[in-house]
Amino acid sequence: MGTENAFTELGLAPDATDSEVKAAWRRLVSQWHPDRNDSSDAVAKMQRINQAFEEIRRAGTRVRTDDAAADGAAPGTAQENARGFDDDGTASRHADGAHRSRRPISRKVKLTLEEAAIGCIKVLRGKVTDVCSTCAGAGHQVLGGNCAQCGGSGAMPKRSFFGWPSGYYECDACLGGGIARQPCPACDGSGKMDARAYKIKVRIPHGVRHGDLLHVAGGRSRPDSPPADLEIRVEVSEHAFFQLDGDGTIRCEIPVDGFAWIANRSIQVPTVTGLHALQLDREQLSYRLKGQGFPTTRRGARGDQVITLSPIFPDSLSTDQQILLDQLLATTSGGGHSPDSRLRAWSRDLRAWERGLSGRGATGA
Ligand SMILES: [Zn+2]
Ligand SMILES: [Zn+2]
Repeated sequence: MGTENAFTELGLAPDATDSEVKAAWRRLVSQWHPDRNDSSDAVAKMQRINQAFEEIRRAGTRVRTDDAAADGAAPGTAQENARGFDDDGTASRHADGAHRSRRPISRKVKLTLEEAAIGCIKVLRGKVTDVCSTCAGAGHQVLGGNCAQCGGSGAMPKRSFFGWPSGYYECDACLGGGIARQPCPACDGSGKMDARAYKIKVRIPHGVRHGDLLHVAGGRSRPDSPPADLEIRVEVSEHAFFQLDGDGTIRCEIPVDGFAWIANRSIQVPTVTGLHALQLDREQLSYRLKGQGFPTTRRGARGDQVITLSPIFPDSLSTDQQILLDQLLATTSGGGHSPDSRLRAWSRDLRAWERGLSGRGATGA
């Protein structure tokens, strides 16, 4: 690529000023960078943009930038190269200087309802692939001078079967740039450094809800610290028997031995912090455990848990159970002798009604 073509590639007139070249380059990079532009020729277009920029800079040393890497890589690509993490925590990002702010690493963290309710500590591991800082991801170093293979034209003559020239193809030694270059020795020409593992302990506060976003400072305190802040999206799994209401109430339906319920026994019921004794009351199927629910706000006080009982009685009784029930009934079902005033009143009303029926029948006969 000649200097004139380089200006054309950047959409500039050959007499464009340094700042115009820089501005055009920045605009094109933001438009064509593969991180932003997913069209299939974005990578090729980026290479041409960078080559044009290199070419102009080399030709006139017109463009000077404070952060230009020694090997002639175009400046500014660092900001463009950061990439979010996938679920498994792999990503490609730029090994840029500490002076740049880096985009946070996006992670998901799955919590049980119990962990979300009382808080927990999670260790997050991931891998980060830094863009090679020697070549700024370009994969090559510009040596200066003309490419030995094509003599600086960037184009190689095609030969027909008989050896006659039949057009040109882009020189693969300089990628058409015409400038002598070599694969970057630091990254073997890949433009990337080896994947680096990171690990961070994250304290999840109590009361986080599904979909919440937590921001955690990455820092560089340890060699295996994540290279950027983390943005953690919370996912709270469905629970087998707890249901969470918006106000922090946890609802739970529990089957209970019908005889235990009648006998006013105490049973163990689950709460987010573990088992909890519940004194049954045979008058009552619904119970409210104060302060045993989910935090009403993040880091806030806990709401209540509401337990609804389903008393279960055996489908068929054993002989022993039948005898015991008969004995039990004998203590209460003496009709008018029942110790309960409601049952005695009902017995009375029923007898009066029956007498009325037979009285009318007698009149009619
Ligand atoms: Zn490199
Ligand atoms: Zn060449």
